[in-house]
This record gives sequence, structure tokens and C-alpha cells, in this order.
Amino acid sequence: MSVNIFGVMPDNMAGTLSGKFPSYRYKQICDWLYRKLVFDPAQMSNIPKDLQAFLLDSYSFNLPEIDAAHEARDSTIKYRLKLRDGAFIEMVLIPAESKRTLCVSSQIGCSRACAFCATGKMGLSRNLEVHEIVGQIMLASELIAPARLSNLVFMGMGEPLDNLCNVLKSLIILQAEQGVAFSPRRTTVSTCGIPHKIRELADSGVKTKLAVSLNSAIDEKRDILMPVNKLHPVRELKQAISYYLSRSSFRVTFEYILIPGINMGDEDIKALKRFVGDLSCKINFIPYNRVEHLPYQSPSEREINEFLQKAASLHQAITLRRSRGSDVCGACGQLAAQKGEPNEKH
Ligand code: SF4
Repeated sequence: MSVNIFGVMPDNMAGTLSGKFPSYRYKQICDWLYRKLVFDPAQMSNIPKDLQAFLLDSYSFNLPEIDAAHEARDSTIKYRLKLRDGAFIEMVLIPAESKRTLCVSSQIGCSRACAFCATGKMGLSRNLEVHEIVGQIMLASELIAPARLSNLVFMGMGEPLDNLCNVLKSLIILQAEQGVAFSPRRTTVSTCGIPHKIRELADSGVKTKLAVSLNSAIDEKRDILMPVNKLHPVRELKQAISYYLSRSSFRVTFEYILIPGINMGDEDIKALKRFVGDLSCKINFIPYNRVEHLPYQSPSEREINEFLQKAASLHQAITLRRSRGSDVCGACGQLAAQKGEPNEKH
């Protein structure tokens, strides 16, 4: 079986071509693939026939297939994608005034079992291959062309740091000058908080912003919301984040899903204040999106406003982030690649 070209590291492709073809051909191929979005070697008009044949023999050029698309009232589009082995993942395209953000998946399912998350209920099937991650970006780029993606967030299905090796390789491909040249400041990897992996990311040399799904700074509560906390309590998480900050020029973002009766009280604000203390960070508060079969409720506007008044005493920048696409289950914590949803376009 031939190798999927979207999983090939820049050095490897350049190395494979060298000796057989002039080095400038590598740049030309990248230009077709990543800038012109032409994925058929036969249509690469400045590439000689023998190189076109070599590419066709050596590589496959498949992207994930769109199985269904659901457009929300706010224009967010959730795509269910079918992979070569028949498995399904989801990616979410979130258009805003001047931005087009793509939320990508890194695993099929997730083993971390966060209590509020639909993906967590699926368990883990497998990690995505590098080409399956890069393929989501290429597919979305094709869908929105001639516009370009402005931001990339690893907040879809899966825990990116549990597939860190492939996520890092994907970032290297996407950030390569000859490739998409995606800016690290427009890339965010989101984690439930795995300290040794946060350190590994910090030491990797690959630049990206980091978002940490915190949701409570009280161990007893976080243990229930996010089982990862039983293995790595908040003190250990904070040490790893301090280490990341010492190696990165980006501040960290904390995601804090607001769930009434769970993490919106006075003691929760006090604990959060203690936790963020002197960290260079900002905090996104996100009203919970109800997920069928899960016991948590969305907060009312009054509950959100009361919470934000209390949170105003925090020294760090805070924002209220409304999840996009909640009416098609494309919002935070709602991705589960279910079959048979309404309004299918494909
Ligand atoms: S919130 Fe993220 S880490 Fe937690 S179960 Fe869902 S996908 Fe996994």
C-alpha cells in the first residue's frame, strides 16, 4: 500500500526526491499540494511526466471523505468524516467576521472520560495517523478556497497529548515554510492536563499555543469532572504549566466550562484565583452545552452574569466564550461522530 503524502515529513519527501530529481521539484510539489490545493499529480502542469509517474507510484493522495455536514444557525459547520478504515471522526469549521477557525480531531474517541463530554463516552478506538490530521486541514482548505483558514484548534475528538507524536509531526508539516506555513500563534493544542506530556510538548521545539481544560481548581470536584485529575492533581498540573511557560513565549489559556451547581460558587472562584495566582494566562469561561444522557445543565443568563461579576476579581484576562454550533452538537464537548443526525448534506 502506498504512503499517504499528507503524512510525509518535509525532510523525508525532499530526501526521497533528491538524487532522482532536481531539488527545486520538491518546492514545486509542495506549492501544488499546500498552496494551490491540487492533489492529482497529473494536473501539476510544471512537473515532468516521469516525476508525476513517480509520485503516483510512491504516494496516495487521499483525504478523509465527507460523510455528512450539518450547518448551525450561526454558520458553524460540523463535518462527519469517513476514514479509509470506515471509522468516523468530526471536524468543525467556525467562520467569524474575519476569521475561519478549524477544530480538528486527533483521536477516534478518547480514553479520558471527562464527565461532561460526549466523546469521552465513546472510549478510545485509535489514534489518528499524521495524514488523517493533516488531511482534515487540507480538506477544509479545499472547502473554503479561495479563502484561507486563519486558526487551527486541536479541540475536536480526542486528547491531542495522548497522540502527541502524530500531533507534533502534523504541526511540523503544517508549519513548514514550503507547506501551508501555518503560524504557531494561530495554532492551539488543547489538553485535559497531562503533566508529563505538557513538559514533552514544551521540550519538543514545536511551537504552538496551549489551552488547558481546567473546569475546577478543587481536586475533589475536578476528580469527578475529569478523571485525569485523580492521576495528576491540580498542584502537579500547575507545575507542568509553569514549566511550559518557562519554555514558551505564549501565555496559556484555561478553559473553564460553567456548570451550575458544580463549579460556579464562591469557593470555586477562590480556588481558581489561588490556582492561576501568578501564571501568565487568560481564562475562557464557556457556558456548558447540554449533552443528551449526561446529567449536567446549561447555566441561565442570570447564573452566568452572577459568576462573571465574582470572576471580575481575578487579575488575569477573562472572556466569556459562547460555544458555536451547539444546535448541531458541534460545540465543545458535543462531538461524538454519531450516525443518522438530521439535515445531512452529503
Ligand atoms: S474533554 Fe477532551 S480529554 Fe476529556 S473526554 Fe472529551 S475529548 Fe477526551
